[in-house]
Order: sequence, then C-alpha cells, then structure tokens
Amino acid sequence: MEIINRRQRMSSVARKIRREQDQTIGLVPTMGALHEGHLSLVREARRMCDIVVVSVFVNPTQFAPGEDFERYPRDLTKDTALLTDYNVDYIFAPTVEEIYPKGFATYVNVGGLSKLLEGEARPGHFRGVATIVTILFNIVRPDFAFFGQKDAQQAVIIRRLVKDLSLDTEVLVMPTVREDSGLAMSSRNSYLSAEEQEAATVIHRALVKAKETFKAGERHAGRLADQLRATFETEPRVRLDYVGIVDADTLERLDKLDDRPILIAVAAFVGKIRLIDNIVLNGAKKKEISSAKA
Ligand code: AMP
Repeated sequence: MEIINRRQRMSSVARKIRREQDQTIGLVPTMGALHEGHLSLVREARRMCDIVVVSVFVNPTQFAPGEDFERYPRDLTKDTALLTDYNVDYIFAPTVEEIYPKGFATYVNVGGLSKLLEGEARPGHFRGVATIVTILFNIVRPDFAFFGQKDAQQAVIIRRLVKDLSLDTEVLVMPTVREDSGLAMSSRNSYLSAEEQEAATVIHRALVKAKETFKAGERHAGRLADQLRATFETEPRVRLDYVGIVDADTLERLDKLDDRPILIAVAAFVGKIRLIDNIVLNGAKKKEISSAKA
C-alpha cells in the first residue's frame, strides 16, 4: 500500500492503472477517523474492483464557519493500519493546500437538492461536498465510487452530479452500519459520552417506530412526523433539529405517502453534537448491517 499526498502523483498512478494495466479502480472518499461504516464501503470496493483507493481528507469547504472543522477527529496512523488490513492499494491523503491552492475559485453547485434538509440547516455544505467529490473523481477517475446511505441526501446529490456532468464513474450506495444499540456509526460519535451515546439511540428508535406505523397503514406524512417528534420527546437529552419525509430520489417533500421509495431524514442535537440518520420506506429489501455482523 502506498500513501499518496500529491494530486499529481495520484493522477499519474491512476492513469497508469487504467491505461497500462487495464484494471478497474474503486474510490472510497472519506474524512478519516474510520469506523465500520467506512470499512463496509472499503470491503465492497475490494470485492468489486481491481484497485482500491481510499481518500482521507477533512474537506474544509463543506464545513460552515463555527462548525467542527478544526476539532474534527484525525488519526491517519490508525486509519492507515486499518486500511492495510483491508488490503487497500492506495490512500490518497492530500493537504488542504494541495486541494485548494492559492487562487482556487471554482465550486460545483448541485442546484435545488443542495438547499433542502441538511442544505437548509448547513448552507454551503453540499457545495463543498460536490466540489471535493468532483475534484477527487477528476484526480482518480474511478470506475466505481462508494458512498453510505447514512448520508442519504449526499448520495442523491452525488448521483445527480455524476449524471448532470456526465462523469464516468458509477456511484454505489451501501447500507448504513449501526452499533448494536441501533445508533448509526459516525466519526462524530466519538464526541459523545457513554450516556450521550445511549441517549442518541432514540434517533434510530424513532425512525424504526415511524416505519412500523407506516407499515401498519399510516399514509399521512404530518401524522408520521408528529409521532416521530413525540418519540424524541421521550429523551430529554436529544433535541430534534428537523424531520423531512421526502421522495427518496427527488427529495421532494410529501404530504400523502404512497408506494414510491420514501426517505425519512432527521438531524438531532445530543448536547452540542449534531447527528443525522434516516430510514427508507418502500425501499429495496437490503438489510442494514449491525457492527456484530459487519
Ligand atoms: P465521512 O468520513 O463521514 O465523510 O464518510 C465517508 C463515507 O462513509 C460517506 O459516503 C458516508 O456516507 C459513509 N458512512 C459514514 N458513516 C457510515 C455508516 N454508519 N454506514 C455506512 N456508511 C457510512
């Protein structure tokens, strides 16, 4: 395994793999502090592709001022050890200056979708995401890129980006990996105390309960959202930021629920830490992975 810091080196390695060796490249973009959620993507990339590249880059443009960019967990030594175990071929870990040199001025904005849900709560976030993904795709030119359903809106936006800009990469979205408690794995969980982690399990519980109510026949989005809010109110240490009940492909807000795939997306504060999670109604029957089985 090689750790690459320079974009030029990454480009030329990837070009050589494609041209001379005619091998497929899989890219797993991450911000590091790797956990089982990330590793499930790496495992799938390893299964599908000849060469696996994992990028580790805490992308400043997707953090708003006052968010946790500076304190975001970073541990490249530990990440490298994990990725070595997973037989990854290359880690691409550039510096901020390498990606955003002096004079950098071009951003990618996926209109409409980027303003909803997380985009409303975190203006500019998806512009940063779409920009870094475009840059990474252009450097690595992966045949396949792997993302997690944990960030459902991000996945929808990246699919749109790839389609609109005719990028030559197939986007694959893997199920959310959870702790046995149901809490979705996230690098930000490391900010939480044990008690807060326990309190945060209400997020998944509320989503599962909403899904059960839907399955029992509830088709009114407003009532489903009310029930979800009520579940959150049973846990005083967690404050719901928003709940969105939307078309899973277009993110269009729904009032009446039908048999199309529907996304229930939530963000919630546990103390000062903001977590997101979601569940899909009428989705394909892909099972979520819990850490024990991952
Ligand atoms: P991040 O490092 O948070 O930017 O995440 C990198 C990739 O890992 C994104 O595609 C995320 O959606 C994915 N990911 C993060 N957490 C999970 C999880 N619990 N299960 C599955 N994928 C995840």
